[in-house]
Formats: sequence, C-alpha cells, structure tokens
Amino acid sequence: MIPFFIQKVFYYTWWKGKMKMCGCLFCKIAAHEIPTSILYEDDQCVVFEDINPQAPVHLLAIPKKHITSLNDACDEDRDMLGHLLGVAARVAKEKKIDGSGYRTVINTNAEAGQTVFHLHVHILGGRILNWPPG
Ligand code: 5GP
Ligand code: ZN
Repeated sequence: MIPFFIQKVFYYTWWKGKMKMCGCLFCKIAAHEIPTSILYEDDQCVVFEDINPQAPVHLLAIPKKHITSLNDACDEDRDMLGHLLGVAARVAKEKKIDGSGYRTVINTNAEAGQTVFHLHVHILGGRILNWPPG
C-alpha cells in the first residue's frame, strides 16, 4: 500500500504536468488550435514559421509530444529527436538554404534564452549568421 502522502505527491506532479500541457502554446499549434502557417507535418512533428523571425528564414520544428526542454527528453524520445533533425534538414532544403548554410538551435532554460517551454528546434538561414552567438 502506498502511503497517502506519497499518493498526494504523485497526484500533484501528474496534475502539474497536465496543467502545463493544457496551457502550452506549441501544443496548441501542433493541435491546430491556433492558426499558424504550418510548412510540414507528420505523425511526430510539426514545422512552422517563427512569429518574430530573426533571419529571412526562421522556422521552428517541434515534436507533437509535449517535452518541456531538452533536459526533459528521455531515452524513448531518441528516435523522435533524430527524426526532428532530419525534418529540419528537409525543410532547409525546401527553403533552399541548405547550400548557403543554416543554423539549428535548441535553447534550453532561461540563460540560453528559452521562452517557450515546449522543446523546439530553431532553423535559421538566408543571411550570414555570426559566431559566437550573443
Ligand atoms: P525560444 O526563445 O524559447 O528558444 O523560442 C521561442 C520562439 O517561439 C521565439 O523565437 C518566438 O518568436 C516564437 N514564438 C513565440 N510565440 C509564438 C507564436 O505564437 N507563434 C509562432 N509561430 N512563434 C512563436
Ligand atoms: Zn507543449
């Protein structure tokens, strides 16, 4: 028998996760609940244009599964993450930035600049991108 306190902790953790998912902007975009220009979609992921582009081409590739950040990806997400990068390369080719060059970025947590807490890959190109990034 699991002690009552432990049950409460489990329930609270589950509920917190559920609430996060319900309010998640990118989950809503993936579910077509928010009108967004979607460039690519399959059973695992969605690619759409960033609302505030930082380059002539600025796309976001996201998993349909809610994963808060790269820190929260687990072993079972490995294939999907590989797939996400493959899709990033595919859309970069479709946007004709594969030859000139493009950058894929995953910001993780506050100091890296993550503002939307649903794992996403930025795909940036169409201009010279400086290094190191700011
Ligand atoms: P982060 O800062 O978390 O790495 O990236 C979040 C990105 O999501 C930002 O580049 C921001 O412009 C983009 N973004 C935020 N809200 C929306 C939205 O409602 N629609 C779209 N298409 N992009 C968004
Ligand atoms: Zn989400």
